[in-house]
Amino acid sequence: MSASVLGAGVICLYAWYGLPFLVRGFQVRRISRICRERGLIALTYDDGPSEALTARLLEELDRLDAKGTFFVTGREAGLRPDEVRRLAAGGHAIGSHSDKHCNALKSTPWHGILDCLRGIGCLQELGIRSNFYRPPYGKATLGTLLAARSNGCRTVWWTHDSGDTGSVPGRVRFGRILGSRLGGESRRAVRGEDELVASRTTPEARQTLIDELIEDGGVVLLHDSDRGSDRLEEHTLSVTRELIEQARQAGRRIVTLEEVFEDDITSS
Ligand SMILES: [Zn+2]
Repeated sequence: MSASVLGAGVICLYAWYGLPFLVRGFQVRRISRICRERGLIALTYDDGPSEALTARLLEELDRLDAKGTFFVTGREAGLRPDEVRRLAAGGHAIGSHSDKHCNALKSTPWHGILDCLRGIGCLQELGIRSNFYRPPYGKATLGTLLAARSNGCRTVWWTHDSGDTGSVPGRVRFGRILGSRLGGESRRAVRGEDELVASRTTPEARQTLIDELIEDGGVVLLHDSDRGSDRLEEHTLSVTRELIEQARQAGRRIVTLEEVFEDDITSS
């Protein structure tokens, strides 16, 4: 193999897998700045809509007169289309979270792109307009970035993790983007790690997260899937309730992602 072919291969691999890491790092810094300067906090919920938790969250958000951003998968939206329409009708922002929640870095390139496109297509079939795509596990390739963009969806990550999947709660740091054993987004409650999960979902851990968000502003990652863990699901609800109440007392605004990106959306 000639050196030029090898070089071209390395450049392609870098563009396919490396570029999304740079885009993510750039975006997290940018939305951190926007949220800090404007005192904004966006609650984002992935993996739903679910049988039980989505309705409980909706009730809580309605009671507090707050709006969230829901990243639904095509699979769950197909099972509960009325719930997706109810979210949209209630003024919440809807984003796509792929169809079957495939990790683009562990799938074939084509499979990752198809999963992204099918998820967005599913929302379009329901008549839901979405400006956002969130890659499962936060893992994107150049292919999924372009697939989402070609359908009018910006790929969006988060600045803070709520810890409601057993991951480390708090501000996202570069080391955590690269992933740790329990870091990043996991789709289910972490089995066999009860003690660790318990330590990450205490009222004290929750308060530290809320204090950080009130101080910094930001986009917080939560989940409205039924995870089969009362502890994690109660943590999701408690973060939602306590964060909204305390953020407002501190003069921060709870907004959807539409408002975080409003300058880009109105100018495009
Ligand atoms: Zn997810």
